[in-house]
Amino acid sequence: MNILEVFEQFPTQESCIKYLEKVRWGDQVVCPYCKSERTAPAEHRHRCYNCKTSFSVTVGTIFHHTHLPLQKWFLAIMLMLNAKKGLSALQLSRDLRVNKNTAWRMNMQIRKAMNQVEHRNILQGIVEMDETYIGGKPRKGTKGDGKDGKHKPGRGTKKAPVIGAVQREGSVAAKAVDKKNMKGRNMRAFIRQHVNTEKSSLYTDEYKAYMGMSKVLPHSVIRHSDWYVDGDVHTNTIESFWALLKRGMFGQFHSVSRRHLQRYVDEFCYRYNLRNASSQFAFNLTINRALGV
Ligand SMILES: [Zn+2]
Repeated sequence: MNILEVFEQFPTQESCIKYLEKVRWGDQVVCPYCKSERTAPAEHRHRCYNCKTSFSVTVGTIFHHTHLPLQKWFLAIMLMLNAKKGLSALQLSRDLRVNKNTAWRMNMQIRKAMNQVEHRNILQGIVEMDETYIGGKPRKGTKGDGKDGKHKPGRGTKKAPVIGAVQREGSVAAKAVDKKNMKGRNMRAFIRQHVNTEKSSLYTDEYKAYMGMSKVLPHSVIRHSDWYVDGDVHTNTIESFWALLKRGMFGQFHSVSRRHLQRYVDEFCYRYNLRNASSQFAFNLTINRALGV
């Protein structure tokens, strides 16, 4: 999908509604409030004879209550899916001619459809796990947590940790966590949640939180201090994903609160996991999820 294809497939509000109705209901319209099938169409909307309400296809979805043409939503989804390095709210507001707050809200709503909680990818085979730290330069006036008030790099900083695992040639899963939860049992819980431990083996570096992983699945440790790469045992795949995430977050995260970090992580995982899918497939999938189908 590109801009032209969105305009071709969805030239009008009506065509957008029709598409959403087909995806959400197929041939049988169901009242979103009372689940009754006793409904009748009424000008871009439907009436329910059971609970006497009228409703549109966007009720209970990310598209509801926005007063924006659905075409702009579809364009926003397409633009986000195509933006390998992420799409800032400022850029989206320029592209769609909406104000920046609206663009920011659209961005965040679309990220909701990309979440990894309702839709989990189960990894299997050779799985690499690693962690990274997200955060631009600290705000002025905040003190670092180093002894001299300076910010320490890597595992000692106040930057927000993200843990993740990737299947070689496969999908990635990643989670923003509190620094106090960078512990073995949390790491193991993450692996149990996202990896088929019966059919996988795990590669990590020698960070202490990964010790004890062999309780869960076969575990090989790469020693970064060694000058050679021990054959197949490396974490290059997950490190490449972190590089992608960090490049995308750079310049955005200083305005992203810790609270929203997972949404951004979800977006980058989602795009990565669809990297070999057609853009039409990715678009349809995103609409499906946005409708809760
Ligand atoms: Zn009803």
